[in-house]
Amino acid sequence: MSDDKEKTLCALQEEGFIESNPEVFVKLIQPARFYCGNCGRSAVAEKNLCNPQPL
Ligand SMILES: [Zn+2]
Repeated sequence: MSDDKEKTLCALQEEGFIESNPEVFVKLIQPARFYCGNCGRSAVAEKNLCNPQPL
């Protein structure tokens, strides 16, 4: 579980991480500094996005 912060939000969603760890997920997306050019998600760290673009 220690690798979760290194995974993309897309991968975390596929694993059901967002539903089971909503409080942790919020910390990954706020305050958002990047967005994903592929799926439109936003995140604090670009490493959590599959195609990070600066906000
Ligand atoms: Zn993405």
